[in-house]
Amino acid sequence: MPSLDEVLKTLIRDIPDYPQPGVMFKDITPLLADHAGFTQVVDALAASGRDSLGQTVVDKVVGIEARGFILAAPVALALGAGFVPVRKKGKLPAATFEASYDLEYGQATIEVHQDAFDPGDRVLVIDDVLATGGTVEACLGLIRRCGATVAASAVLLELSFLPGRERLAGERIDALLTV
Ligand code: AMP
Repeated sequence: MPSLDEVLKTLIRDIPDYPQPGVMFKDITPLLADHAGFTQVVDALAASGRDSLGQTVVDKVVGIEARGFILAAPVALALGAGFVPVRKKGKLPAATFEASYDLEYGQATIEVHQDAFDPGDRVLVIDDVLATGGTVEACLGLIRRCGATVAASAVLLELSFLPGRERLAGERIDALLTV
């Protein structure tokens, strides 16, 4: 069986200049299409929601729209935890909390249902790529505003040439691969 590093390096491809010139987009669709690779990656992400004895220590797994959904839902099932979507503004039907943050160009707003968590829930956050850290930072703020506790955040890829980790200093961020 290939190592997790090999899986990530061979099944996540670089698409230059997408969605705009100068951006190297990390495309995870080849990984999702590979059953063995997808399984290995879900297992590795789920480890962030377990203690050293393998016991689940989170109640909910948050997926950040859209690629975070694809990864977080199987992680939630693997952990025996619930799944909570954090969505782009205007997509969630019930009362929400929202957080806005700066992108490289412009702004983005994400939302979560106000009743998505039970009081004291421990939460694992999942996304595909950590770039500037703005998305995860906004997401952690929303979770705390709901009265839940962030246990950890886990991503497939961390882009080390961007200041995401510094921005999230003091937070636990698990990256399966740093490039
Ligand atoms: P950021 O808020 O800058 O950390 O950006 C993270 C979000 O944007 C994640 O939801 C990623 O899916 C997406 N993203 C940012 N940069 C890239 C990239 N180079 N390739 C793929 N997705 C990216």
